[in-house]
Amino acid sequence: MLMTLMVSLVIVYLFYVLVLPEVELIVFRLNNPKKRFLPPELEMKWANRTMLRSCEFLFVGWFFYFGASIGSFLNVVAWRVPEGRTIVFGGSKCPFCDTHLSFIDNTPVLGWLYLQGKCRTCRLPIAPRYLLIEIAVGLAFMWLALWQLVRGGANLPHWHTFGREGLVNIVLDPPWPLISIYLVHAGMFGILIMLATANTGRKPFPVFSLVLIALGLASAKIIYPALDVVAWDLPFVETGLTGFGPRANPAMSVLVGALAGGLIGWVSSFVFARGFGSVIGRHWVLQCFLVGTVLGWQSVVTIVVLSLIVYAVLRPAHRMISPKLSNWTIANQSLGLNACFIITAMVHQTFWSQLAHLLGLI
Ligand SMILES: [Zn+2]
Repeated sequence: MLMTLMVSLVIVYLFYVLVLPEVELIVFRLNNPKKRFLPPELEMKWANRTMLRSCEFLFVGWFFYFGASIGSFLNVVAWRVPEGRTIVFGGSKCPFCDTHLSFIDNTPVLGWLYLQGKCRTCRLPIAPRYLLIEIAVGLAFMWLALWQLVRGGANLPHWHTFGREGLVNIVLDPPWPLISIYLVHAGMFGILIMLATANTGRKPFPVFSLVLIALGLASAKIIYPALDVVAWDLPFVETGLTGFGPRANPAMSVLVGALAGGLIGWVSSFVFARGFGSVIGRHWVLQCFLVGTVLGWQSVVTIVVLSLIVYAVLRPAHRMISPKLSNWTIANQSLGLNACFIITAMVHQTFWSQLAHLLGLI
């Protein structure tokens, strides 16, 4: 399995570095038959272009791996926190034979593939959930790095990129506010994925722990107001509620967002359960609460309404396959709605600026 992964990675790399530029060149020539000058990247010498593209490939791969490592840690959190165990001390162990995992076996994604999903000592299966969380969190970190960081925050409403897009700019002149926003947003997606899968555990994730996480993010927003991307009083600026001061406005943003998230989560859980007869999962309200705290009340309204629409559209398909899923546990059934919510939140993040403009939040 590991060998197949390595070979596919090499193929993707060669395609990105050698084949894709040629395809781009052909497409450009077809679209602009009269232009004599090429875009800078296509104009570059072959060696320079290969080097730049290799750096880009490494950059993206690094962000995937960074996310997968966070996912690996969140796996530990999802498993140990509901059990009331510490997450700071004690390395990872096999849940069956208590053997400590070595550094190589504990490597995100590769460790699981290398062991082919079985413990090295007792050969009992390690749940694919671990691998899936690491991949999902890795993909979330990678996608946000590409779409939010490399594009200079072009997806954020009210954000001016100041021409600081591109990989080279980020490395040579790091835009710290944007990097901080990226870390908070990517971290939020990681926790959403962790909570969605923590539904399958024996005990629910304690509300108190999540409130602590949300409080940490809230104080970060107040200490560093650049993290407050959308002001809480939009689009109702004219009402005269503004002008609370540089610290008080982010504080209001956190307060209104958390309250709105909790309330919308609570109301929508009834809509989903009674209206659609769907299994919600026990962390739904907490997930909405977290989105409200981090992204603001406007985003949590948009994301919940959008996922309601998407879920209504997908419901016939879900009904068609649900007899086949009848042997699934309740916890696994809730994954459908949770995946719908997280993917909608990611699409919202991708087109956040356009959506805010469309809905009059600018
Ligand atoms: Zn074992």
